[in-house]
Amino acid sequence: MSDQPIPFGRPYITDEDRAAVLDVLKGDVLAHGPHGKAFEEEFARFLGGGHCLSVSSGMAALHLAYLEMGIGPGDEVIVPALTHTATAHAVEMVGARPIFADCLSGTGNMDVSTIEPLLTARTKAIGLVHFIGFPCDMGPILSLAQRRGLRVIEDCAIALGTHYEDTHVGLLGDAGAFSFYPVKHMTTGEGGMFVTRHADVAHRVHQWRAFGVDRSFEERTIPGLYDVTTLGLNYRMSDINAALGRVQLRHLPELIRKRQAHFSQLKAGLTGRNDLRLIEDHRPKVGHSPYCLSVVLQGRAAARRNDLLLKLKARGIGTSVYYPHPLPRVTYYRKKYGTSSDGVPSATDISDHSVALPVGPHLTEKDVDRVAQQFRDTLTEVCK
Ligand SMILES: *Cc1c(COP(=O)(O)O)cnc(C)c1O
Repeated sequence: MSDQPIPFGRPYITDEDRAAVLDVLKGDVLAHGPHGKAFEEEFARFLGGGHCLSVSSGMAALHLAYLEMGIGPGDEVIVPALTHTATAHAVEMVGARPIFADCLSGTGNMDVSTIEPLLTARTKAIGLVHFIGFPCDMGPILSLAQRRGLRVIEDCAIALGTHYEDTHVGLLGDAGAFSFYPVKHMTTGEGGMFVTRHADVAHRVHQWRAFGVDRSFEERTIPGLYDVTTLGLNYRMSDINAALGRVQLRHLPELIRKRQAHFSQLKAGLTGRNDLRLIEDHRPKVGHSPYCLSVVLQGRAAARRNDLLLKLKARGIGTSVYYPHPLPRVTYYRKKYGTSSDGVPSATDISDHSVALPVGPHLTEKDVDRVAQQFRDTLTEVCK
């Protein structure tokens, strides 16, 4: 009997999750009900503070951040080259221009020293990303932002559970965005969370999130009556998704511990080879919440990356690439601004030569061993 394939990611859904969703469907309140509100309060408790607003996706949370800040045409925002396209598209969606910064080769996080030369009179914000669960070097980034009067938006989509010096990411800058897409640290199907330390920002995002109306459903004294004070979208999360999120959140500490254990086990299984290095953070006491384990192939092995991905797939080992292109090289940005991978060598190296391996709670210890062994054997084979 051959082994079952091991997917890169799989939502961790239990009977408790299913029961919570069914429970909502047995009632009449499917939107702006009690679960949405409770989920936001419980999420804030998990983070250790902040105002939290549940939204329909991580992208929606990022879009709301730029809308609320009034960033728009003529403005520039520094974003990392090594990220999901949502990080830059959110800037683009408000009519501003994303400017791509390179990353540190060690952690894949934005290299602070590459930000300063990119700043112009048009720069309004830094839209950073905490890469695969490693916190960005927030001290220098925040002091640069303060010196230059820039807002800081933290994309925490793959960094739930990550801390920087005891503060949860998302609570260090002006706004944070989380994603609950199925393979992220926890899921609501689709969904996200906008977080901020500032009550006034939360109040305005609350309006932007729901059509710009001045009072939400539960705040209306006379049923059906409200005014519209600003422009807005509908980026709310339904109570069905929020009920699922509440159960996921209860299990999150345990899910993160599993990811940490799998990361350590997998790392141990890949030591002692000179044809690879790991994306990792050597600073002491880093509040790492592993999303995956990313391996960067070295020397001759680097050119064999795509063969390796294909062979691993054939052998039932799920992998991914974070991220497949430095963003200035993707067709949209290349065509619009004439950008390329020139100037972002570290991001390009990681995009072209890395393999992301699974560490999620769906794996057993035996699975992790199998991933390590198959990875080692297959790498040796494709390099022959
Ligand atoms: C997944 C992801 C997003 C988008 O989140 P969605 O919930 O899928 O919209 C944004 N930024 C990063 C870094 C991501 O990995």
